[in-house]
Amino acid sequence: MKILLMGPPGAGKGSQSEKLVKDYELTNISTGEMFREAYRNNSPLGIEAMRYINKGELVSDEITNEIVRKRLLRSDAERCFLLDGYPRTVAQAEALDKMLEKMQSKLNAVINIVVDKQAILERMVGRRVCKSCGSTYHLSFKPPRVDGVCDSCGGELYQREDDQLDSVKNRLEIYETKTKPIIDYYSKRGILRNVDGMQSFDAVYKDIKQALGEVI
Ligand SMILES: [Zn+2]
Repeated sequence: MKILLMGPPGAGKGSQSEKLVKDYELTNISTGEMFREAYRNNSPLGIEAMRYINKGELVSDEITNEIVRKRLLRSDAERCFLLDGYPRTVAQAEALDKMLEKMQSKLNAVINIVVDKQAILERMVGRRVCKSCGSTYHLSFKPPRVDGVCDSCGGELYQREDDQLDSVKNRLEIYETKTKPIIDYYSKRGILRNVDGMQSFDAVYKDIKQALGEVI
């Protein structure tokens, strides 16, 4: 099972993918996470990538495709994976198709979480992430048991630079112009399913599972 989870920034992709990965035993391939890890390891690629990400801009197709290509070659990505945050441009979607074709594989389903723009702004500004394990929380929708402390590991929670207002506005604009065309790209292939993201976390998850059942 090879799944792509799509949706504008703030659609709740991160927390939905955490649950999907657990329930379906998928390998989570998150480009955002890979870039942040590369950055923590002081790799030049990571430092370069974070410069764009922190401004709310897209990392170049070249760098992004390369990090994904290497990741897909690892054995844990052979059978089933969930892609999160990639592809973000039609050029990346085409590159991904070619990579998978070479591996005699393909995407089974593309789930698109549809949300209201205004609501997104509110959601993103409330998002907090654990510094140690990367778990995500939300001040209103998924608050930690103790203020500022991660439930899973006790790490410190913080607001990512790219979740701050100016950066969020920039990301939404980029999503409209660059990422939205991908929806047409996959829609034509009949593997795209839209899910209403303006519901509770559990209701959205239930709809995602149902949509997966239709395509897989
Ligand atoms: Zn943690």
